[in-house]
Amino acid sequence: MPIPFVDLKRQYLSIKEEVDSAVHRVLMSGNFAHGEEVEAFEEVFSRYIGARYCVAVSSGTAALYLALMACGIGPGDEVITAPNTFIATAEAISTVGGRPVLVDVNPASYTMDPLALETVITRRTKAILPVHLYGQPADMDPILEIAKRYHLLVIEDACQAHGAKYKGRRVGSLGEAGCFSFYPTKNLGACGEGGAVLTDNLEIARKVRMLRDHGSDRKYYHKAVGFNCRMEAIQAAVLKVKLEYLDEWNTRRRQHAQLYSNLLSGTGLILPLEMPYAYHVFHLYVVQSTCRDELQQALADEGIATGIHYPVPIYLQEAYQHLGDGRGKFPVAERVTEHILSLPLYPEMSDGEVQTVSRQICKFLPH
Ligand SMILES: *Cc1c(COP(=O)(O)O)cnc(C)c1O
Repeated sequence: MPIPFVDLKRQYLSIKEEVDSAVHRVLMSGNFAHGEEVEAFEEVFSRYIGARYCVAVSSGTAALYLALMACGIGPGDEVITAPNTFIATAEAISTVGGRPVLVDVNPASYTMDPLALETVITRRTKAILPVHLYGQPADMDPILEIAKRYHLLVIEDACQAHGAKYKGRRVGSLGEAGCFSFYPTKNLGACGEGGAVLTDNLEIARKVRMLRDHGSDRKYYHKAVGFNCRMEAIQAAVLKVKLEYLDEWNTRRRQHAQLYSNLLSGTGLILPLEMPYAYHVFHLYVVQSTCRDELQQALADEGIATGIHYPVPIYLQEAYQHLGDGRGKFPVAERVTEHILSLPLYPEMSDGEVQTVSRQICKFLPH
């Protein structure tokens, strides 16, 4: 039986009645943009993350650029981030006119290396944008300490880390602002697009709220040039239902990750590590193999879907050639890019499926 990389239909079927009734409620209300549903989700999600304010927006990408803009990042400003992330992280910096400045990552955690961070700070640096990649928090204490010393803002890209914790505190609540995506395949996913900015800072919350709705604080009165980045009511209603299950789903992800790690030890694969400071929520279970492409093909031949997150680091993307960072500039990110493979992992997967994937890997890899 084929094993897909994710299976959103299984998740829907597991909570169908609640989701259907939430969607029906919105359809019957006739209020599709903004409004009570969105406010209700903002309330529960801010409480869940442990931040004072949540402003729901139309995507994770929008959350990132609206947060950057609300933090005053603009043309000419440099924002430090990691090279091995989804393009949206860098794109958001470019959207506000800033320049992404990359630093290499820690090979054990795949997240920003705080030791490398200090070496790229210049007079133009305004912010640090760490990415909690694959569900593992970046090492926030040294990052926050450096930010404080150089008077920089920290904005978290928590788009892959809903519910992850750094030293017991949920990510998204640690910097000046935290950005989430509710893209359908994320740990907390909408039935469409969605995102949110979390912050304790009232000024930032106000600005994001204004910018997401054409720069207005009341209808047809515009204080700033903004965007249409509102969250849809249907997405908010669905997300509020799903938030109730997030911890349970993350627990299942962690159990599957543990099972993979048990079954794959001794194969020679480099397995994911949970850093001592972290509560990892395994948005992705990423291994490294010296024969990655062959392994991926062998699994595909058995009907097992895998992914590569991501096949090209930011600075080697065609879109970012102007950064001028050539091959070899970030050796860790570049080396792992050649070897990483994401295995199927979602809460609704059965233990048997994890065992099947593991068995096929063991069959392929010579011990
Ligand atoms: C998904 C993701 C985003 C963008 O979120 P969208 O909702 O797809 O716009 C940004 N950063 C990272 C690390 C992501 O995984």
